[in-house]
Amino acid sequence: MYITGARFPGRYVQAPGLISRLGAQAETLGKHALVILDRNLADVLRGPLEEGVKPLSAVISVHGGECSEQEITRNVEEGRAKGVDMIIGVGGGKALDTAKSVAFRLGGLPCVIVPTIAASDAPCSALAVVYKESDHSVDYDYFLPRNPDLVLVDTQIIAQAPSRFLAAGIGDALATWYEAESSRIADAPNCWGTHGSALAFEIARFCRDTIVEYGAEALRECDAGEAGPAFERVVEANILLSGAGFESGGVAGAHAIHHGLCELPDVHHHLHGEKVAIGVLATLLIHGNRDEYEKVRDYCLSVRLPTRLSDIGIVEVSDEKLQAVAQRACRPGEIMENEPITVTPDMVVAALRQLA
Ligand SMILES: [Zn+2]
Repeated sequence: MYITGARFPGRYVQAPGLISRLGAQAETLGKHALVILDRNLADVLRGPLEEGVKPLSAVISVHGGECSEQEITRNVEEGRAKGVDMIIGVGGGKALDTAKSVAFRLGGLPCVIVPTIAASDAPCSALAVVYKESDHSVDYDYFLPRNPDLVLVDTQIIAQAPSRFLAAGIGDALATWYEAESSRIADAPNCWGTHGSALAFEIARFCRDTIVEYGAEALRECDAGEAGPAFERVVEANILLSGAGFESGGVAGAHAIHHGLCELPDVHHHLHGEKVAIGVLATLLIHGNRDEYEKVRDYCLSVRLPTRLSDIGIVEVSDEKLQAVAQRACRPGEIMENEPITVTPDMVVAALRQLA
């Protein structure tokens, strides 16, 4: 059967200072929460969280740093011992992915996600990436049956984070429309096996239009630590529109090349969305779409995104490195197959050479 569809978090709310209403927003979901708090923010946010989570009762667990099997198990045990009926994740991607996984392992408890940066579109998704504690490489992708029940975005907190995170989120959001469009033309399924509905593609388009119109201004507002009007629009695009857009519309070449780039230790200090932006540019070159490539490259420069391999740490470009990227990007069964043309490793290498 040919099924089309779209998936979303249960509820999405956004405002400056919203953490003060966390408990009021979440009280329809439970009464006794385990709050998994990013360790980098433990000092700053503990006070506002303890206040904001009322009238819920809450146990705060400071996250260990990695979303790993050990960290998930530790929090599952803590949640079980304390008899909680809800999980709240507060922080960056790893703390949030841990919260999603713990909620699922505890029998599908309601899950509330409070992102403190807008650096990727992960907060709204039903996906967690689990890493190994040993070498911090990817252990497995954890596809969960349900999206978070509530995503609460306090834009005042996000505006305090370095602008680089917002720019990276724009990079991830930039890929959403191109990948959904490739998936639509190729008639490829999304990551939960259905085909994007008409709404899925409209979300992706709206995501692109929003970051194009407001991206540069949002970064200036973020520099000033202000959750201004452009900032509000871009945060919604980075987190909600990009999240629903990629999960519903599908992923393709840009993320395939991202996965390939991650094979190189050179890029490890660069953010997900920064590598994805390079993936978008490379995919446009693979398609021979020079005009669109130049347009997107200029846009990337205007929103502080990388446009050359050296910008993401690949200073010495060798055939060996580019082959490693290309082989991983084109691995059989990979999302590169969602592109409407057959992409070979040689095509990836040739495109990346142009970005050297
Ligand atoms: Zn992404």
